Amino acid sequence: MNFPLLPGAISRHTGAPMTLGVVGGGQLGRMFVHAAQRMGYRSAVLEPDANSPAGLVSHVQIKAAYDDPKGLAELAACCDAVTTEFENVPAQTLHTLAATLAVAPSAQAVSIAQDRVREKAHFVQFSAESGVTVAPYAVIESAADLTAVPAKLFPGILKTACLGYDGKGQATVNSLADLAQAWVRLGQVRCVLEQKLTLAAECSVIVARGRDGQIVHFPPQLNLHRDGILAVTQVFDGNIPSQQSEQAIEATKSIANGLNYVGVLCVEFFVLQDGSLVVNEMAPRPHNSGHYSVDACDHSQFDLQVCALAGLPLPQPRLHSPAIMLNLLGDVWLDAAVPSQPDWATSLSLPGTHLHLYGKLEAKRARKMGHLTVTGSHIEQVRQTAARVAKQLGLGEF
Ligand code: ADP
Ligand code: MG
Repeated sequence: MNFPLLPGAISRHTGAPMTLGVVGGGQLGRMFVHAAQRMGYRSAVLEPDANSPAGLVSHVQIKAAYDDPKGLAELAACCDAVTTEFENVPAQTLHTLAATLAVAPSAQAVSIAQDRVREKAHFVQFSAESGVTVAPYAVIESAADLTAVPAKLFPGILKTACLGYDGKGQATVNSLADLAQAWVRLGQVRCVLEQKLTLAAECSVIVARGRDGQIVHFPPQLNLHRDGILAVTQVFDGNIPSQQSEQAIEATKSIANGLNYVGVLCVEFFVLQDGSLVVNEMAPRPHNSGHYSVDACDHSQFDLQVCALAGLPLPQPRLHSPAIMLNLLGDVWLDAAVPSQPDWATSLSLPGTHLHLYGKLEAKRARKMGHLTVTGSHIEQVRQTAARVAKQLGLGEF
């Protein structure tokens, strides 16, 4: 494959204009498709659901399971390069696609991010130099491992090594007896038990890295989670102290370099009471905490995903406005005064409000249906507006 893949150019591989593909049809894929199309690429989405957020807006939609050989062959035949939008795409799928076309991130990087045990080992190796640690933890693979757990890990959080997201596949445990029960409830699969830390704050850093090793970063995002799900992201100068900010950026770059990563990578951190940073987990794709970048930066995380995939130069993104992003879960629809009809008109009458809905047909509790980003010239004004929107839509305080 000859890079860069220029938008609008006729591909020698397909005979059609350059086409970027994405495995997975969720909201992240939708925003990737939006960014790719705006730059002049064609898009293709592989997703079994006929009404997926990304499939609905793509030039080509291939309705097949992520590991369906026919679907993968169809995707490979119409694309010049392929990326993913959710991390539980089977690594084997990326491996198969990589035999005939450019795939980023690699199956190897994704498989490390899919497994908390391998992910933690990678963090220990690559973030220590930046002074960032991981939470004390133990790997639980068998009943014998349960009894060997040191007492200092209680109270702890038991997490399945694979397939967890939005706080799913997790249980808080206070004792050995609790732990044994929780492990049975989680299906006796491979898990990690982490010490439950007292968090002063949570933040994340998103980087984009090219095939040539060029790396650019977004400013750290200050994140508030409710019930294990991201609720609010705030980005403005001074959202976290500059020393922590530099440390988190440094650690994220080192983690990405250590994976020889190509694409957009997000790393989540805990800030402890004493100001020290603990690295929590990574997502080998754009991240919910980076959605503000569409409205508040000159290049969004999705623009950079497109550039990294196509082998274009990566511009260092610039935050041009302070921003607060509010996630809109299905609860907003279910609890609206008029059921299923949140009052967007009132939210949008306030200055600097940007509504993003993902086109999902059914609102369910805790389901991510959209988000709303508030921008403005000063963080105080942004905060006031975001607080009014949150109140009006029945979101919690932040
Ligand atoms: P997920 O893959 O579901 O996002 P995380 O490991 O990021 O899983 O956990 C979700 C949230 O739970 C975190 O953002 C944080 O608020 C809380 N949490 C997770 N691990 C710990 C821990 N060791 N100590 C304290 N809080 C934690
Ligand atoms: Mg997380």
